[in-house]
Amino acid sequence: MSSPTPDFPLPMSAPAEQVFPTLTPEQVARVAKHGHARAVSSGEVLVPAGHQAESFFVVTAGSIELVRRSKDGEQIVAVLRPGRFTGEVSMLSGRQALVSLRVGEPGEVIDVKRDDLLALVQNDSELGDIFLRAFILRRVELIAHRLGDVVLIGSNFCQATLRVKEFLTRNGHPHSFVDLDHDSGVQDLLDRFGVGVGDVPVLICRGNVVLRNPTNLQIADCLGFNAAIDQALLRDVLIIGAGPAGLAAAVYGASEGLKVLVLESEAPGGQAGSSSKIENYLGFPTGISGQELAARALTQAEKFGAELMIARGARRLSCERRPYAIEIDGGTRVPALTVVIATGAQYRKLQVENLARFEGAGVYYGATPIEAQLCRGEEVVVVGGGNSAGQAAVFLAQTAKRVHVLVRAAGLDESMSRYLIRRIEDNPAINFRPRTEIVALEGTNSLERVRWRDNATGAVTTHDIRHVFSMTGAVPNTGWLDGCIALDEEGFIKTGSDLSKEDLDAARWPLARPPHLLETSRPGVFAVGDVRRGNVKRVASAVGEGSIAITFVHRVLHE
Ligand SMILES: Cc1cc2nc3c(=O)[nH]c(=O)nc-3n(C[C@H](O)[C@H](O)[C@H](O)COP(=O)(O)OP(=O)(O)OC[C@H]3O[C@@H](n4cnc5c(N)ncnc54)[C@H](O)[C@@H]3O)c2cc1C
Repeated sequence: MSSPTPDFPLPMSAPAEQVFPTLTPEQVARVAKHGHARAVSSGEVLVPAGHQAESFFVVTAGSIELVRRSKDGEQIVAVLRPGRFTGEVSMLSGRQALVSLRVGEPGEVIDVKRDDLLALVQNDSELGDIFLRAFILRRVELIAHRLGDVVLIGSNFCQATLRVKEFLTRNGHPHSFVDLDHDSGVQDLLDRFGVGVGDVPVLICRGNVVLRNPTNLQIADCLGFNAAIDQALLRDVLIIGAGPAGLAAAVYGASEGLKVLVLESEAPGGQAGSSSKIENYLGFPTGISGQELAARALTQAEKFGAELMIARGARRLSCERRPYAIEIDGGTRVPALTVVIATGAQYRKLQVENLARFEGAGVYYGATPIEAQLCRGEEVVVVGGGNSAGQAAVFLAQTAKRVHVLVRAAGLDESMSRYLIRRIEDNPAINFRPRTEIVALEGTNSLERVRWRDNATGAVTTHDIRHVFSMTGAVPNTGWLDGCIALDEEGFIKTGSDLSKEDLDAARWPLARPPHLLETSRPGVFAVGDVRRGNVKRVASAVGEGSIAITFVHRVLHE
C-alpha cells in the first residue's frame, strides 16, 4: 500500500507550523466576521496561478491544495487542512498568484475579500502578525525552491543577464536560472522556443511567453507587477522612488490613512538595496542587508495599503496646476494631491572593471566610525578632491596608519576649502597624491591590493591596501523635474529655509506662509533623502525625512 502524500512534501527552512500555522477555533471565528462561509467541491479551482487572488481563504472543512504546474507536470506544494489559510506576499501587493489553489477534499471555506483582509491585518494585531509572518515565510520558501513562474536563461558573464537577475531578485520574485555556461541541455530548450544564442538572456515568463533580452518594464508587465494599480485614481500622495526615504514615507503615509502610490523606476531598496550589509542602522546590531531591509519595509507599507508601481519611472512633473500630475514611462499621467520626491542620487563610481565585487568589501562611499575601526593601523586610500574627501581623510587619519589622498587634478585649490587643505598639509599621516588615479583593484573575497597610476610619470605601482574610500560626489536624480522645482547649482532639490526669495518668486509661490520643512518651491511637493540639498547621505536620515514629510503632507491636505 502506498503511503499518502504528506501535507508538506518539500523541505522547509522554517518549521511547518510557522509557514502554515493552524488557527485556533476562536481565531477562525474572528476571521469569519470579515468574510462569508461557502461550500467547495473537490477539484474546484479557487485561484488559478497567474491570476490576482481576489480572496483569502481559511479552511473550515475538507482541504485546499497549493498546486504548481511546470513542463514536467503538476506538483502539490502543500495541503491546507481545517484551521489553515491561503495567501503569501502577492496577497498584499495585489499581484498574480504564483501557485493555483485547488480544492482537495470537499468541504467549506471562509472567503475573505482582499480589501477586508487588509483591514483585518491592520486592526487585529494578533492575526495580523500570524498572517504576515506566514506570507513572508511562504515567499522565502518559494524563492528557496525556485517555485516561481519564471525561467531565466543566460550567462553570469553577460551584463544583461545580471541586470535581469538583479531585477527579479530585488523584486523578491522566485525564478529558476539556467546557466548557459554549464547546462548542456540548454540548446535543446532554446531550439524548442526558436531562440538564437544572440538573444540571451531569454526569460520564459509564466510558462509560455518568451522574452528575448527583455527590458525591466517588459518583465514587470509580463509578470503583472502593476496590473492591480489604478493609474487614474487621484491619491493623497504620490511618492517618487522606493529607496529608504520613499519607503518610509509610504509606511507613515499609508499607516496614517492616506491613499499612497509609490513609483519606482527599478526595484525597491534604492542605493541601500545594493548594500550587502548596513551595520549602522538603528535596531540591527548585527547589521542587515539592504535588500532585506527594503523587503521588510515594502511588506510593511503594503500591509497598511500603500501601492507600488515597479519599473515605471517618473518622466515629468506637471506642476502648473493642482492637483499635480506625474507623467510616467509609457506616457500615462498619474494625478496626486501632494508629491514626495525621493529619487536619490547616483554615487560617482571609480572607473575600474571589478568595482562591484569590492563594494562594501573594501570600497566604501562614506567614512563613519565603523569604517574607521576597520582601518585601524592600516594604510587607506581616499579618492576625491572635494570637501567630503578632505573631511574623510582628516577623520580617517586619526585611526589609520597612513591615508593616501588621490586626485586626478594637479591640486586641491579649486575644489576643497582652505581649512581642510591646511589640515591635510599639516597632518604627517596624510599623503597627498595629485595627478594620480586607481587603475585596478585586486583581491579574492575582499580588497587586498590597489594599483594606481601617477599620470605625471605614467608609473603604475601596486600597494597592499585593503580600504578605499570613494568620495567623488553624487549626482542627484532630478533631470526629470525639468525646471518645475528650484534646484541648487549641483542639481539637488532646495527645500524649506534653503529656498531664497528669488527661488520662490521664480516659482510664483502662491501662499502667504513660507515653505514647510522639506517642502520645495511648489506647495505640497516635498523632497526627502539623498536627492535633497543638505541631506546627510545615510539610510537613517533618509528614513527620518520620509516620515517627517508625511506630517507636512497632512498639513497641506488640510490647507
Ligand atoms: C554601496 C553603498 C553602501 C551604502 N552603505 C550605507 C550604510 O552602510 N549605512 C548608511 O547609513 N548608508 C549607506 N549608504 C547610503 C544610503 O544607501 C543612502 O543614503 C540611501 O539609500 C538614500 O536613500 P534615498 O531613498 O534617499 O535614495 P536611494 O536609496 O538612492 O533611492 C532612490 C530610488 O529612487 C528611484 N528613482 C530614481 N529616479 C526615479 C524616477 N525618475 N522615477 C522613479 N523612481 C526613481 C531609484 O531607482 C531608487 O530606487 C550606502 C550607499 C551605497 C551606494
